[in-house]
This record gives sequence, structure tokens and C-alpha cells, in this order.
Amino acid sequence: MEDNRRDFLKKGALLGLTSLGLTLIGKNRLDAIEDLASKAADGGKFTLPALPYAYESLEPFIDKQTMELHHDKHHQAYVDKMNAELEKPENTKLLQSPYTFESIFKVASKVQPALRNNAGGHYNHSLFWQLMKPNPQGADNKPSGKLAEAIHKDFKSFDDFKKEFSEKAVKLFGSGWCWLIEQNGMLKIVTTPNQDNPLMDLAPEKGKPVLALDVWEHAYYLKYQNKRADYISNWWNVVNWEKAGELFAMH
Ligand code: MN
Repeated sequence: MEDNRRDFLKKGALLGLTSLGLTLIGKNRLDAIEDLASKAADGGKFTLPALPYAYESLEPFIDKQTMELHHDKHHQAYVDKMNAELEKPENTKLLQSPYTFESIFKVASKVQPALRNNAGGHYNHSLFWQLMKPNPQGADNKPSGKLAEAIHKDFKSFDDFKKEFSEKAVKLFGSGWCWLIEQNGMLKIVTTPNQDNPLMDLAPEKGKPVLALDVWEHAYYLKYQNKRADYISNWWNVVNWEKAGELFAMH
């Protein structure tokens, strides 16, 4: 990496707390990946980014207590464990400093499983928070612009897309994520187990994330208990399609 680019990333890291509010337009995908999660200026530790909205603001679709636990406890734990893993020589010998998601995901199959799981957890959740927005009245919520066109091209209609995405998310066995990715110019719906994601070298289906849905039980159990399908049908109300469109537009 060139020095000026490293400086740029460092300055970006200093602005980490506000980065969630910055538009992603004009950035390339890899910069955006790093911007998703704040890095403290001293020592380069990864830190938990603040939610871009209040805990209760996704109600009535996702409840305040779930958001508090999910963000403050679960996500924080991924960040802390990721930082601890980045102290271990068996991981650091495989990575170049400064550590980035990109550099870790490229060798996800080789690092300790705890680094793969917790770096994945940190990245996936940072993305997930951004891909939701308040919509308390449940107003009609769908993509627009180029992303809408691509969805129509690759899935026939928005309703067909939603149906396929929901089915794959409901059927995913155990804990994991459902993704809309761009793969060789085509949109595709894929799932990953645990905290894996389509950027990891070991992912059978690799691609650029456009939309992400957490289907771990901790994402919905307090409000929806075992009814994952109800969680998913309600989640569509709070999808941030503007942000998904920005991710889709990046190179
Ligand atoms: Mn989660």
C-alpha cells in the first residue's frame, strides 16, 4: 500500500466514530469494508461503531431490547475477541500490518477459527446495522434506481427476489447469514454458516455484499421466539435500500 493511501486510511480511522454517517458513494468496495468498523488511532485496535440510529427506532419490527443486546453485548464481544486474536503470533504471522478486514478475509481459511469467526462477526454486524433504517409506519419499502433494475433483471421482480431471499434465510440450518451479493455482474442470493461471509477465501460463493440478514437466534428470539419467518417478513420493513444501492454502486 502506498504511504499516502495509508495516511488516508489512518485519517479515516480517526474519523471512525463519524464514519457511519458518511456516505459510501464514490468509495471503492475495499475502502468501504474498512470504513464499516472503527479503528482506534492508538494501537490500531478495532472498536465498536455506534448504531446509526436509536436502539428503539426499528420498532415495531425489531425491538429495543434485542438491539441493545445484539449491538452492545454480542457485537462488542466479536470486537473484543477479534482484538485478542490479533495479538496471537499464529494469526499475525499470516497477516501484514496494518490489519484490515480485507487482509484477514483473504486468509480466513488459514488463521485460527476464532479470528475468522470474530472478524467475520465484527464486519457482518457493522454492515447489518447500516443496512437497516427506521420505518415506524411500515411505509412501502423497496429498492430504486440501478439496484432495482438489476433485481428485476436477475430475479424477474422484486416480489420474486423477496420470496427467494426469505426462503433461503428461513431454511438456513442453524446460525448464519443470508446475503444478496454481486458475483460476476449478476446478483445472487447465498447463505453462509456462523459468521462467515462472501468475502472470505473459503466461501463457496464469493461476491460483493449488497444486502445482509443476520438469522442467528440472538437477532430475533426475544420478540419472535422460534418464528424466524416472522422476523424476516418484518425485517423487510426496515431494510435500508438506499445503503444497499450505495454498496451495489461501488466497484
Ligand atoms: Mn448477530
